[in-house]
Amino acid sequence: MSRMDVKTKLELSFVFESYWEMLPNEIQQYIMSLKMSQEKIDEKMARLCKEKKDFKRLHAMWARGPIKVQRHDECTICHDHHMRGVYGCYVDENNVMQEVFLGFDHKQALQRVNHVKSFL
Ligand SMILES: [Zn+2]
Repeated sequence: MSRMDVKTKLELSFVFESYWEMLPNEIQQYIMSLKMSQEKIDEKMARLCKEKKDFKRLHAMWARGPIKVQRHDECTICHDHHMRGVYGCYVDENNVMQEVFLGFDHKQALQRVNHVKSFL
């Protein structure tokens, strides 16, 4: 049994108190797997929530036009689409839309955005 399984089992046995031990092993296993998949969903939602906040902040800081996020194909491990790069779009002096690299993720883009803007 992994550390996570032990932790989950302890939490669940607290919730169900004496009933937990009365459940057949298959049901215990099933409940534990449901709980673990719910935790993965919660983690993903929290990550998406943070990404959305960072995106809004970055968009406001960039203030020159749209922010473009390039993503990889679906990850075989976590089924996420990890970021490949974050770009700031702007219209140049010839009225042509240009893109400039801001970072490999929102965090890096937020750190570099003002520096990149100073060169435009
Ligand atoms: Zn992944």
